[in-house]
Amino acid sequence: MSETHELILEAKHVTKKYPASGGKTLVANRDISLNMYRGRTLGIVGESGCGKSTFMRMVASLEKPDQGEILYRGKDMGKLKGEALRQHRQNIQMVFQDPSAAFSPRMRVMDIVCEPLLNFKRIRKKEKEAAARKLLEMVELPEDFIWRHPHNMSGGQRQRVGIARALALEPEIIICDEATSALDVSVQKTVIELLVRLQKEKNIAYGFICHDIALVQSVAHQVAVMYLGNIMEVLPGERIGKESLHPYTQALMGAVFDLHMDFDEPIKSIEGEAPSPLNIPEGCPFQNRCRQCMEICRKIKPALKNISEDHQVACHLYERKNCFFHRNPL
Ligand code: SF4
Repeated sequence: MSETHELILEAKHVTKKYPASGGKTLVANRDISLNMYRGRTLGIVGESGCGKSTFMRMVASLEKPDQGEILYRGKDMGKLKGEALRQHRQNIQMVFQDPSAAFSPRMRVMDIVCEPLLNFKRIRKKEKEAAARKLLEMVELPEDFIWRHPHNMSGGQRQRVGIARALALEPEIIICDEATSALDVSVQKTVIELLVRLQKEKNIAYGFICHDIALVQSVAHQVAVMYLGNIMEVLPGERIGKESLHPYTQALMGAVFDLHMDFDEPIKSIEGEAPSPLNIPEGCPFQNRCRQCMEICRKIKPALKNISEDHQVACHLYERKNCFFHRNPL
């Protein structure tokens, strides 16, 4: 991405595996390389189980890669331990899909949003009320909500509390893990608008995990499309509609419901089912659902290649010597 935006996080060739039954191994992330920049949003999109949350959990230092490294301002986070790791966690915070699951129902909003500040001794107990009021103002909630309990609030209000808590330590990166997926569409819009405003004001980098490509393309500056633990395509969100090349990205876009679509045309859905992540075939992982599958696709896994400075694709269609996109970069 850009020379003008400050690079703060680099994932280099990250692989994450888990042992599975029958002596098998589940590869949740395979050779992932992605960057995050201040004030920019990296979206990760893909179907359930594609490995997007696993990747962001490693970015948030909740898990460590088995291979590769994740550098935060040049430092390998996988090597941090004990107090150094605890201190580092202030830099990267998370907002989850269901914030109430992360809150104790007995805690008031003031205690929820101020807990990280007290844990890291950023404030004293007597400063709690003022700090909580300031955080609620940032997320556009009435200040007297500090006395409420989460169960007395709507889903959108609870999610704003989750965002306020994530903001408390003034992190450089916030990971939003399906943070708006459980909300009604109208509430989702207002929460997204809030996230966008906060990003502009505080120059925060977001990692935005979502299964909805229509939403991701509208909020993310750069989008990585994942399938069965692999990156299939990376390109700017605003260009997905017109310039995506990978058959999987195009299939996801084809399945998007749009009010302005031609209702005489059937809504396309992605053909077939993804193979078991424990039995990914040799060659291209998308081969059994791809209408353009060729012989080579069943034998050789396509590498992620540059199509232009900010666009990469892993597909044999764009590797051939005479490929239009190699002769005429976008
Ligand atoms: Fe389809 Fe082959 Fe491209 Fe895979 S590599 S997406 S099977 S054309």
